[in-house]
Amino acid sequence: MMQKIEHLGIAVKSLEKSIPLFEKLLNTKCTKTEVVPTEEVTTAFFETGNSKIELLESTDSNGVIAKFIEKKGEGLHHIAFEVSDIKAEMNRLQNEGFTLLSLEPKIGADNKWVCFLHPKSTNGVLIELCQEIK
Ligand code: ZN
Repeated sequence: MMQKIEHLGIAVKSLEKSIPLFEKLLNTKCTKTEVVPTEEVTTAFFETGNSKIELLESTDSNGVIAKFIEKKGEGLHHIAFEVSDIKAEMNRLQNEGFTLLSLEPKIGADNKWVCFLHPKSTNGVLIELCQEIK
């Protein structure tokens, strides 16, 4: 089941510049930064009530976030939904005709199993499913 919007992912060129900006905007401190080697990003998290903001900076000039910024500029990158059973949700979505970017959940940021849906199958919006690793 899709439980809630867990976080919004925002692609940024520089965490050094964007962390103070979002701290000012949200009037709260960044709760943590974390390198996710599998996605070639460094992430920074902010708690906003029941959901979070995740800033993403590429660690590699050829990484997906670097390419995204090259094409579209900085900005909203993905919407992440928390799910109670990621494998069941992946099966359901695949059966509904959505394209998954990986056939198995991957280890993402913030102690989560994650799986992305191809934006071509979701009206151009990159969707992430995430489930806490217990
Ligand atoms: Zn995310």
